[in-house]
Amino acid sequence: MANAEIGVIGGSGFYSFLDDVTEIQVDTPYGAPSDSLFLGEIAGRRVAFLPRHGRGHHLPPHRINYRANLWALRSVGARQILGPCAVGGLRPEYGPGTLLVPDQLVDRTKSRGGTYFDGLPLPDGTVPNVVHVSLADPYCPTGRAAALKAARGQEWEAVDGGTLVVIEGPRFSTRAESLWHQAQGWSVVGMTGHPEAALARELELCYTSLTLVTDLDAGAESGEGVSHEEVLRVFAANVDRLRGVLFDAVAELPANEDRGCLCTGALGGLNPGFELP
Ligand SMILES: [Zn+2]
Repeated sequence: MANAEIGVIGGSGFYSFLDDVTEIQVDTPYGAPSDSLFLGEIAGRRVAFLPRHGRGHHLPPHRINYRANLWALRSVGARQILGPCAVGGLRPEYGPGTLLVPDQLVDRTKSRGGTYFDGLPLPDGTVPNVVHVSLADPYCPTGRAAALKAARGQEWEAVDGGTLVVIEGPRFSTRAESLWHQAQGWSVVGMTGHPEAALARELELCYTSLTLVTDLDAGAESGEGVSHEEVLRVFAANVDRLRGVLFDAVAELPANEDRGCLCTGALGGLNPGFELP
């Protein structure tokens, strides 16, 4: 059976060049994840890669089965998750190519299955209990430190902390929405960071977000606004560097059994009503 330690939710640019990659399909009580899991090894650590949007990038952010994704990663043994994603910068100083490791999250999504504790029975008949986890600090402090250290090692001065606001998408923000996000003091805007972080917490997984700014959001620049082509261009220009950071971060993460963070006890001993995968 598959035996991973660490999960990476990102595109094919993060695993397709590894020597030995094993593709496995995993089913979950919540349906199929975005794609197969791709198992490989980095710095002696066993890593499961999952293309968040599917390998053909066919899933828009609001159609991603986030619950299945996190469940699948945990079921193959991953306990620490790195979640790189493309974002828009909400401040002029966070221009394209900025790497920001957020420490806060604002959820402005609308239509996503955002919890495992929704009271609905699983296919095997078990019914989840009502459990409220703390998301006061949505990201793993150990994972964040590993990501920041890895970025420094790649001579990429990452922004340490900031707020990621997650919108429903797939459209970009209006100028008014963007100006409002900025006025709140938030840092970057994306479409996939939630409910990924919340679901990871519910499964007692460590989750770290690494956001790559591909453009200035509509309210932070004075031109035509965000274009899809520009986002893809900047992402492609930085994907090698980001991969280097991710791989070094994997090497920095502690062994799963040595984690000392609060993520590991997020359920506080409460019975979720189902067997954690
Ligand atoms: Zn943690």
